[in-house]
Amino acid sequence: MRIVIALGGNALGNTLTEQMTAVKHTASAIADLIEQGHKVIVSHGNGPQVGMIHHAVNELTHVVEQDFPVIPLSVCVAMSQSYIGYDLQNALREELLNRSILKPCATVITQVIVDPNDIAFKKPSKPIGRFMSEEEAKKLADEKGYQMMEDAGRGWRRVVASPKPKAIVEIETVRSLLQAGQVVIAGGGGGIPVIEEGNHLKGTSAVIDKDFCSCLMAELVDADLLIILTAVEKCAINFGKPNQEWLDNITISQAKEYCKQGHFATGSMLPKVEAAIKFAESAKGRKSLITLLEKAKDGIEGKTGTVIYNA
Ligand code: ADP
Ligand code: MG
Repeated sequence: MRIVIALGGNALGNTLTEQMTAVKHTASAIADLIEQGHKVIVSHGNGPQVGMIHHAVNELTHVVEQDFPVIPLSVCVAMSQSYIGYDLQNALREELLNRSILKPCATVITQVIVDPNDIAFKKPSKPIGRFMSEEEAKKLADEKGYQMMEDAGRGWRRVVASPKPKAIVEIETVRSLLQAGQVVIAGGGGGIPVIEEGNHLKGTSAVIDKDFCSCLMAELVDADLLIILTAVEKCAINFGKPNQEWLDNITISQAKEYCKQGHFATGSMLPKVEAAIKFAESAKGRKSLITLLEKAKDGIEGKTGTVIYNA
C-alpha cells in the first residue's frame, strides 16, 4: 500500500532531548510498515518546535538586537521542518540500516499554497508565540498590524489564521522520490504557507493544520491509506463522559453525523476526523485510520484504531 502517515505531537516530544528519544520510537513504528513492503510518506506536526524557534527569533529581534530585521513566521516554519526532518530522517536511516533495509530517507522542504481570500484570514484563530501584557499587545497591533487576543487568562498573544491548504508546491518531487522507492518526509507543520503572486511565492504568517495538509498530500500522491497517529488509540463519542464509546470501523456518513453532533473537539480531534473523512471520500478504495503510534501496525491489520471508510 501507499501510505501517508501524519505524526502528532507525541511522536516528536517537546524539547530537543525529548525529540531525540521520541524519534527513535517513531522510526521503529514507521520501519515496521516499510518492512512489510508499504510505501511511506511521513508528515508531522510542529507546534512545540515552531514555538521554540519563534520564541528564539523574537528574543533576537526584540531584546538582543532591536534593529535586527523581523524573521517571519513562514521562515520559522521552514526552520522547524528542517530541524524535525533532520532528526526524523536520521532516526529512520539508522532503524532501517539496523534491519538491513537499504532505503534513502530525505526531507522535502514543503510549501503549501493558500488562498489569500480564505475566510480564515478574516478571523485568525491560532495563538502563537510569547505571552505579553495588554499594553504591549496593543502596541504591536498598531505598529505591525498583528491581530492580538487574550489567551485563556494567561496573557495576550498574537493570533494568526489557519487557512485550508490548496496545493503543494513540491508535490512532483515527493512523487518522484516515492516512485524511486525512497522514504519521504514532507508537509511538516502543515507546510510553509505561501500565496501565489504570479510566479512568485510569498510566505504568509499563517498556520496550516497538519491533518488537512496530510490529507491533501495523500490525495495528490494517490495513497491508499491515510494514517493519523496521535495520543489516543481510537476516536470516541461522548469523549471523557461516563457514556463514552470508542469507535472502530465507521462509515463516512456516520463520521459526518458524529462531527455534526459535536463529539470531536475543535483544534484537536475534529480536524483529524474531518481530514480522515475528506480523504476516504476522495476516491473509491481509500480509507483513513486514526490511532496511536505504537498501534499503527495493528491498525493496518484491522486489529485496532478508528477506521473511516467509504461504504
Ligand atoms: P496531535 O498532536 O496528535 O495533533 P491533539 O492533541 O491535537 O494531538 O489531538 C489529539 C487529542 O484529541 C487526544 O489526545 C484527545 O485528548 C483529544 N480528543 C478530543 N476529542 C476527542 C474524541 N472525541 N475522541 C478521542 N480523542 C479526542
Ligand atoms: Mg493537533
